[in-house]
Amino acid sequence: MTAPADFDEDGEFERRIWASDGELVPLHLAPELDGFAKLARETLADVRATVRWIEDQSGATERTAIGFLEGSYWNAHTGSHGEDVVGVRWGVVVASLILFHRLLAQPKVFPSVGDASGEEAFVDPPGVLEPDTLAVVGASLRVPNDPELLRIAQYMFSKAILYVFLHELFHVWDGHTGLDKKALSPIDLQTLEMDADAQAIDRLLQLARFETNGAQPREPVESKFGPGATVAFDTLSSAYLAWRFHHSAITHSLARTGGNHPPLAHRMGICLYTAATTLVLRWGFSPEDAGEFATSVLRSAEEAYATLTGVPYDPSIMDIAFGPVGHDYRAELLAKWHRVRPTLKPRFGTLAPLQTIYDSKGNLLAQA
Ligand SMILES: [Zn+2]
Repeated sequence: MTAPADFDEDGEFERRIWASDGELVPLHLAPELDGFAKLARETLADVRATVRWIEDQSGATERTAIGFLEGSYWNAHTGSHGEDVVGVRWGVVVASLILFHRLLAQPKVFPSVGDASGEEAFVDPPGVLEPDTLAVVGASLRVPNDPELLRIAQYMFSKAILYVFLHELFHVWDGHTGLDKKALSPIDLQTLEMDADAQAIDRLLQLARFETNGAQPREPVESKFGPGATVAFDTLSSAYLAWRFHHSAITHSLARTGGNHPPLAHRMGICLYTAATTLVLRWGFSPEDAGEFATSVLRSAEEAYATLTGVPYDPSIMDIAFGPVGHDYRAELLAKWHRVRPTLKPRFGTLAPLQTIYDSKGNLLAQA
């Protein structure tokens, strides 16, 4: 059986959202809108095309309807009452739009992109960058003057939105939504988040492998890591910053007993270890290069975030993500995965690409 070709994207999304939860309101974006709203609409169309492609390639017999939901906060909804639906709140879109434009409008961020001489440095007052605040009051808009910087801001925005959708979609595709959440402990739920994060990063980087319309090749990334590495760099940075904007504070403590999501530093560690694994397996990176690449993305994204906020970069995130604490945490989740995994009924494909993790020297650290 193949998925229907005449799938009505907007209509199915609206119908399934109304059917799944009385509290949720699908966002309707009129086709004649321009500016940010037009960009958001085009991004959604691109994400839908990508999702259709993945489902077709994977032999999925059902289609997941995706779209935007009304609501100003940083949140997404995944429903699965016979009909799969994923909605991302408008607040996520608006906050990401504003933040990526502000980021690229900073002359010190990504200095090798475009011509930053026409940009003026600025520091945001504390609290302005909280996604909820941004979406509600709208920070003063800053857009890069340089066309290439503007293009990269929009490109990174679209990657971040694709990543957020892929994360939610993997909760559906890997069968998480079929589980009884009440029967799961916080650490079980963190394992599911690890799975969704890992699958989304893996898929995002697989898609980027064959991309031709990304960033202009940049040095020293290309000569150091090979042709196309700029695309991988910007893709991974976008996904990393999406979570960074979401969790504006680094959580140092482990959340083994409370919290359904991994603490930020561990989430970063999961994303970067998965990315390194994908770069080795699908891009042909050596494990050493993959580790160095992931570390340089983390450092560059953290420095970018520090420039934007005026809060100095905190190097302890590196220690947590890549040190023994992060290793122990991921090993615990991977061990847990043995128990959770057989109870899942994935829609298609295999589960969790994060089966093995390497350290920055290419040594195998843990295996599921
Ligand atoms: Zn999740």
